[in-house]
Amino acid sequence: MEAENSILIIDDLEINREMLMDLLGQEYRILNAENGQEALDILKEHYENIEAILLDIVMPVMDGYTVLGHIQNHPQWSKIPVLVMTQIGDEENERKALSMGASDFISRPFVGEIVKHRILNLISLRENAAIVNAVVKDSLTGIYNKDSFYRIVSKELSDNDTKEYDIIALDLEKFKLINDRYGNEEGNRLLCYVAKVISQFARPYRGICARAAGDVFLILLPHSGDKLEHFAQNVMQEMKKYRLDMKIRVKMGIYEIRNREVPVYAMCDRACLAAASIKGKYDTIYAWYDDSIRQRLILEQQITDDMKNALEQQQFQVYLQPKYDLKDDSIAGAEALVRWIHPQRGFMPPGEFIPLFEQNGFITELDYYVWDKTCEILEEQLKTGEKCVPVSVNVSRKDIYREDLPEILLDIVKRHNIDSKYLHLEITETAYTENSEQLIRVVQRLKKYGFIIEMDDFGSGYSSLNMLSELPLDIVKLDMKFLQHETLEEEDRNIISFIINLAKWMNLSVVAEGVETGEQVEMLRKMECNYVQGYFFAKPMPYDGYSKLMEESRVISIDNDEVLKPEEQLLVHENGKDRVMLIVDDVKMNRKALSDIFCTQYDIVEACNGMAALEYLLQSHARIEVILLDLDMPVMDGYEFLEQLKADSRWRGIPVIITAQTGEKGEATVLEMGAADFICKPYHRVVVLRRVENVLKAYK
Ligand code: C2E
Ligand code: CA
Ligand code: CA
Repeated sequence: MEAENSILIIDDLEINREMLMDLLGQEYRILNAENGQEALDILKEHYENIEAILLDIVMPVMDGYTVLGHIQNHPQWSKIPVLVMTQIGDEENERKALSMGASDFISRPFVGEIVKHRILNLISLRENAAIVNAVVKDSLTGIYNKDSFYRIVSKELSDNDTKEYDIIALDLEKFKLINDRYGNEEGNRLLCYVAKVISQFARPYRGICARAAGDVFLILLPHSGDKLEHFAQNVMQEMKKYRLDMKIRVKMGIYEIRNREVPVYAMCDRACLAAASIKGKYDTIYAWYDDSIRQRLILEQQITDDMKNALEQQQFQVYLQPKYDLKDDSIAGAEALVRWIHPQRGFMPPGEFIPLFEQNGFITELDYYVWDKTCEILEEQLKTGEKCVPVSVNVSRKDIYREDLPEILLDIVKRHNIDSKYLHLEITETAYTENSEQLIRVVQRLKKYGFIIEMDDFGSGYSSLNMLSELPLDIVKLDMKFLQHETLEEEDRNIISFIINLAKWMNLSVVAEGVETGEQVEMLRKMECNYVQGYFFAKPMPYDGYSKLMEESRVISIDNDEVLKPEEQLLVHENGKDRVMLIVDDVKMNRKALSDIFCTQYDIVEACNGMAALEYLLQSHARIEVILLDLDMPVMDGYEFLEQLKADSRWRGIPVIITAQTGEKGEATVLEMGAADFICKPYHRVVVLRRVENVLKAYK
């Protein structure tokens, strides 16, 4: 039998001991004591193996209570459950024994099953307590975990309702970096070190320490004088001794407990906020959670309370900031930037509310509003024949998570009768860092619907190169920070120049943001940056000012196709031939290139999109010998056109050759869908002629 499986029976009557022996001897090793002194001797020697104690109350010399007192006062023995044996109906003794720390009692005469059952219960209870202990502690550092900290602190506070306390949140700076650079094991070693240090300095004050999560620790200290400052200084000194070739810095946030109605977790949150408020401030190691932080929270709450109303009452306004083409300083586009004209607080720049809206989700509604207003402006300009350039809107990181974002945007432009091309979408680079797959999917669909995609804040993240090759972008906006160094050093200029060249090499246009001086403009012009946006040319302004500026300025209209009325979307060139070639492409230059090659062989029909081409087919398809089809078009793209074409038996025999950008995805798909072949842009005359000839031979 295992030594640890022992039960200590303390009873002066042999007959009682023997009876218990018969009952329990099978399962446990029994240690017998005839009196209290003997019991204490046995405990001294064997306490580690004793799982339970059965104690008689009525004994000569040393009675059961005295023995119980000894047991309870001993740090180790007190953990052993004690079952007191009483006479049936002896309630007074039962109560007294329990109040002195006995775990339970059994009454004579014994019923064997009950005795066994009760002992078993006690033993398993104790084992559970050991497990509970493990759950209470943080497994890495051995100090309390967050939940038990909350529990113990609330108990401490309610047990000592006149004593004053502070809660400290301690945060390690750049802990993630330490993990990345030196590995998790080193990170863990550091966490254990911190736990040791704070426990050591909290102990004299009877403080309570815990690791809340990751690299955040919590400490409860009784409040008095400059105890806290000593604690903070001591901890910092000790952290300096930590051996690592990187400096370890901690930030401490202190919440002084004044109002005990505040739940402990909220107290801890406030301490953490205070710690966060000094992130990055090198000379500060601790900060109190004070009114300024509380004021900010209150302000945030007020903004949250106001925002819905504000949207209904049109307190948000869309400002526009023009973008200039560096070739001739004409206006080539604009960015829509939201402003909140608050009835009490006045003019509010987006920095004061956008981050909050991104947190609470309201950004989705606000962005929708801005997109809609922007399209309203564009629609008005186009309808009245005012000068008009594409306007870009910001698409928040949060918007990207909506699966139906492309449809939502398409719906808005359709409702305002404008082409998707007029609405540029600025997507911030960090969206790629957060969820690249989702972003790629969404951007591909947006492109399919004809939107122009601008990558905002380009160069601010770490993903730039990957991103450029994976995302079908049109324009990159150079992050403002590149220009905002006081004086541009050689190195800064090299980076800007490199990014511009890289973007150009990938066939993207470049916009430089935050351009404030003439020198910056000249530098960017030399580097062949395409567009600039910044205070040097114009600040963001309300629509009226923008409209006036446009009237007075030279303005580039993006693409002459845009002004085509529906009947102008189809251009028929009669060249006196009996066969027709149908060229479907939204870009005039591309149509012209093909038309020039084939005008001596065919009558050429140009269609600006799938819809116009389909209309022509319906009118007269008999003479069409071949169709050259672009994929990426607004209104109806090449894929959909091809589908329509193949669905009608009258047209099925007309060969379709796809004209697409080199490397464009979907080659396999369109061939599967029944296209005859492929021609890649930019066109080479010889290749184009040969490809068409071959296809026609095959179709005859
Ligand atoms: P952003 O998209 O990078 O916008 C450019 C910011 O630079 C704007 O700040 C603009 O006013 C400012 N800016 C323009 N030229 C200059 C210049 O020469 N010098 C300097 N120092 N700044 C210049 P703004 O309007 O305060 O907007 C800040 C940010 O708020 C924007 O940064 C954008 O991320 C966000 N935002 C603005 N409107 C919206 C919106 O409708 N929806 C969403 N989701 N975000 C928006
Ligand atoms: Ca932007
Ligand atoms: Ca930007």
